[in-house]
Amino acid sequence: MGTMHYLLLCTVIFLPESSAFPVSLSPEPDNEKVKGYLDKFFPIFTKTRNQSIAERIKEMQKFFHLPITGKLDKETEKIMQMPRCGMPDVAEYQTFAGSPKWEKTDLTYKILSYTSDLPIRKVNDAIKRAFRVWSDVTPLRFRRVYLRQADIEIKFARREHGDGFPFDGKGGTLAHAFPPGEGRGGDAHFDNDEKWSDVDQDINLFLVAAHEFGHSLGLDHSNVSGALMYPTYSYQNPETFKLPADDRRGIQKLYGKKPSNS
Ligand SMILES: [Zn+2]
Ligand SMILES: [Zn+2]
Repeated sequence: MGTMHYLLLCTVIFLPESSAFPVSLSPEPDNEKVKGYLDKFFPIFTKTRNQSIAERIKEMQKFFHLPITGKLDKETEKIMQMPRCGMPDVAEYQTFAGSPKWEKTDLTYKILSYTSDLPIRKVNDAIKRAFRVWSDVTPLRFRRVYLRQADIEIKFARREHGDGFPFDGKGGTLAHAFPPGEGRGGDAHFDNDEKWSDVDQDINLFLVAAHEFGHSLGLDHSNVSGALMYPTYSYQNPETFKLPADDRRGIQKLYGKKPSNS
């Protein structure tokens, strides 16, 4: 099942390069950007390839609860420019693959590389607390390993970094993570061209890591505003962070609740 999920995820990335795509766009410079955004985050799977840009913009507006105009209005443009997660928002591959999840509750993680924006101990701490967000409400347990291969491998990287999903420099995509599975399944990558922080400045690592680990555990994006799994970045105080109900329901649907004796 995991393999299927993978194949389809790859399709997402290869779509923009497909030359079979009938291109009938006006030469406005913004159109390519809009198409790039939609190809990446609202990929076409089963629908007709001839779907117009207006139809595709409508699909995106529906997801973000915007007025459905099919036009690149101010509000729509604003969302497209927000820093966000690199995973797509529509996940029709789910219908084929089901919800991938780990078949064990004890998972390992490993930190392969660091950002130089924060001291190493602060990165370690943000990662640890991000996992705790999920282990607090499920039977899942996370243990850091140093030498052997881990279920969830974490790294900071820039641009093309070996998985065919290149990062895009500062802004735009902040990070991405693979759904549960063998090999790179579960792995989480953070864009090292971002400026990472542990406060309300630049991009808060704890918040993005907690979101990405949601993908590592099998969650897709939520269109509930305020949910941790919402695709765009917004700051909230990590000290008082509480997992929103929508995310708690999602993760407990996959793994159940935390046993009361642990
Ligand atoms: Zn995401
Ligand atoms: Zn990557």
